[in-house]
Amino acid sequence: SVIPDYLAEALGDVESDTSGQLADYIPELAEADPDRLGAVFATVDGEVYGAGDIDTEFTIQSISKPFTYALALADRGFAPVLAKVGVEPSGEAFNQISLESDTGRPFNPMINAGAITAHSLAGPEGMNPAERVERVVRGLSAFAGRRLRMDEAVCVSEMEHAHRNLAIAYMLRGYGILTEDPRAVVEGYIRQCSVLVTARDLAMMAATLANRGVNPLTGERVIREPVVRQVLSVMSTCGMYDAAGDWATQVGIPAKSGVAGGLIGALPGQIGIATFSPRLDAHGNSVRGVSLFGRFSSDMGLHVMEVP
Ligand code: GLN
Repeated sequence: SVIPDYLAEALGDVESDTSGQLADYIPELAEADPDRLGAVFATVDGEVYGAGDIDTEFTIQSISKPFTYALALADRGFAPVLAKVGVEPSGEAFNQISLESDTGRPFNPMINAGAITAHSLAGPEGMNPAERVERVVRGLSAFAGRRLRMDEAVCVSEMEHAHRNLAIAYMLRGYGILTEDPRAVVEGYIRQCSVLVTARDLAMMAATLANRGVNPLTGERVIREPVVRQVLSVMSTCGMYDAAGDWATQVGIPAKSGVAGGLIGALPGQIGIATFSPRLDAHGNSVRGVSLFGRFSSDMGLHVMEVP
């Protein structure tokens, strides 16, 4: 296949771009090797192609958000989840302290307010925090097709500086959107963000979304099709935060970024794509990841609004 050569060439073209910064509001993330670079394509028929750092582990961070939202929808049903988390793009930063003014609902599940709420809705009602974390890790693992584990150091490091997420959670508790101890929910959410993945894992997770909710390698149905549609729709409007409009027009692939440098895209019926490069732009999206996706989209005509 020519795909690995194509990927290696694409990585070579962006390699010299050292612009952007490591996330440092989580001190442990500032210790990452900024030069890591990798890209993986995983097709819905189970072919996997990669180049560069595809087996290096890093924390999933916000890329966990669409998957946990999927678990919440699967475990609780649409109506209870929609009553607590909206689907409107906020046009704001991922950690913005803002909720819908009348209902107190977070705008969408891709910003932290919505993701913290979605975490609280994973698993059946009444689950204790530790069981819920296990439910989420098991769910993320099913998407990836292998058992994932947590990076305790990143988790502790983020928890020590989680004032902003705690503020968001207490506000949600005030509106009755969260019904449990806000601190325990934030801790669970931060554990979810500390799950270790590789670019290969992320591509498989994206490919599971692209493949109607069935993991292309394990054959496991992880979520049902209506949930997949909901998740991909929200990724396409809200996945890149306040850069979502630029992304939708220029790249046109439902996507999600994380502050450890991961980036995924899922094209229904075709392919899951993941890139890894830790330096971030002002929106908190991977600089070289955004460039790579732009290139993949135009080279292969992947924009969802284009006739293939
Ligand atoms: N754990 C991070 C946070 O809540 C995730 C943010 C991200 O990846 N954009 O701030």
